[in-house]
Amino acid sequence: MLLRDLHGWLDGCLEPWRYKDYAPNGLQVEGRSEVRKVVTGVTASQALIDAAAERGADAILVHHGYFWKGEDASIRGMKKRRVASLLRNDISLLAYHLPLDGHLELGNNAQLGKLLGLAVAGQSGEQNLLWHGEWNAGGDAAALAAHVSDALGRSAQLLGRVDKPVRRVAWCTGGAQGFFSDAIALGVDVFITGEASEQNYHMAMESDVAFIAAGHHATERFGIKALGEHLAQVSGINVEFIDVFNPV
Ligand SMILES: [Zn+2]
Repeated sequence: MLLRDLHGWLDGCLEPWRYKDYAPNGLQVEGRSEVRKVVTGVTASQALIDAAAERGADAILVHHGYFWKGEDASIRGMKKRRVASLLRNDISLLAYHLPLDGHLELGNNAQLGKLLGLAVAGQSGEQNLLWHGEWNAGGDAAALAAHVSDALGRSAQLLGRVDKPVRRVAWCTGGAQGFFSDAIALGVDVFITGEASEQNYHMAMESDVAFIAAGHHATERFGIKALGEHLAQVSGINVEFIDVFNPV
């Protein structure tokens, strides 16, 4: 597959123009024009680039790419080494941030809901990135936290009342702790995201809405994985997901 066709296919699938994002979505670093092997991963870290180069990948497809708003635009130090590795190996970097959180089937939120067995009721909030639905299996917040830990293979942090009965759930993967007030306003019993901030504990206690921090990386592995599998299915390209460890 030609790189420009791959880029076009990904744009058509994820519709990045529908989002106001903090980083450029799409082709961030251009490599060779023919793509036979794609490595997918959450973040375009040096470890992921090295693993992709070892496997002879032509392109890397990630959720967290480069050139974030507000970061130093110069290519020095860590960024120089990463970009140099890509260019030296002629590997393209394609990144999709919010479009991959929000996609209704392949996105991080959709995939996390599916993994946890949550029945989706709808989306709201900033750019429709806050999902809500029901946990039909039922139980209290401690039981849901245990279920989340089990599903993600990582111990989730539960803030708030552990015996809070849970039916209605809101969630947004990654660093979406800023959406907690919107989740509280929705009237849910628990909010699930990746990371927690100090004030989230007090908010959970005072609102009586439980908060589960399940890991930024842990909650954002499934969108890019699903996207890669879909790409492999429709194009026949060799796609390999590599889960580079990240405890945050
Ligand atoms: Zn993220």
